[in-house]
This record gives sequence, structure tokens and C-alpha cells, in this order.
Amino acid sequence: MEQTDDRPQSSAVAVEYVRPEVRLLPTPTAETEAFWTGGRDGRLLIYRCRSCERWFHPGSAACFRCRSIDVGPEPVSGRGRVAAFTINRQPWIPGFPPPYVVAMIELAEQPDVRVVSNVVGVAPESVSVGLEVEVFFEQWEDIWLPLFRPAAGVIDE
Ligand SMILES: [Zn+2]
Repeated sequence: MEQTDDRPQSSAVAVEYVRPEVRLLPTPTAETEAFWTGGRDGRLLIYRCRSCERWFHPGSAACFRCRSIDVGPEPVSGRGRVAAFTINRQPWIPGFPPPYVVAMIELAEQPDVRVVSNVVGVAPESVSVGLEVEVFFEQWEDIWLPLFRPAAGVIDE
């Protein structure tokens, strides 16, 4: 993806990510299993239509654009940027302490493909729209949760 000079300068502040005591885990379906388990091989797997070659998420049995059923999961780079986010400050989940960032990440391959996840390893107050992030995976039982952290070089270590 081409980078432009007018994008906002990041002022993201690094913080150490501490794995929480608990996570609420998804129940994969036939169409979402690849997304939740691709991290086992270090890959973020997103559905792609082999007819119109567009990516879409979450996965489904047919392409919502061209109706082709020739669809399936394929690996993406795992890079993207924050399209929108919120900072949760309520202790909704025992063992999963706030504050934490819930973000929509637009994937580098196709900006209208967006993944909802946490952005970690960065002070929540310093997250901004446009922040460049990269995926990593956190294993819980048979699930490899795709989480995102600032991309290499975005934060001065
Ligand atoms: Zn299609």
C-alpha cells in the first residue's frame, strides 16, 4: 500500500502487554474456523472470493458481491491500520481488567475489510485513527485470537 506524506504522525506510547487471566472465546463455525485457528501456523486467514478476487470478513459460504460460492480462507499480511476504536473503561469481565482498546482494523490488502479486535502494547489514550498495526496471536485452548499491536517502527522502543 502506498504511503502518503499527509498521514497523521503517530504519537503512540508503548506499554507492556500483559496477557489477561481470562478471555471470552468465540465458538468457531465452518466459515470462521480458519480465522480463529490460522494463528496456529502464524497466519491471519481471511475469506476471499476467487471469482471477483475481493476479500470479505467474516467468512461466509458465498461472496456477497458476486454471489460466487468459489470462496475460501487465504492468508493476508496481518498489517493494517486503526479505522475506528473505543476505549473500554468498565470492568465487564472479571479477570479482564480495563482500560482496553476495542478497534476496527482495516486490512492492508483491502481497506473495506475490517476486523474487530483489541489493540494492545500501546497506551489506550495514545491510540489514534490511522495508527499502523500488525497482527499477533494469543492461544487459548484451540483458539488463536488475532490481536493487534503497533507495527514495527511506529513506536520508538
Ligand atoms: Zn465475488
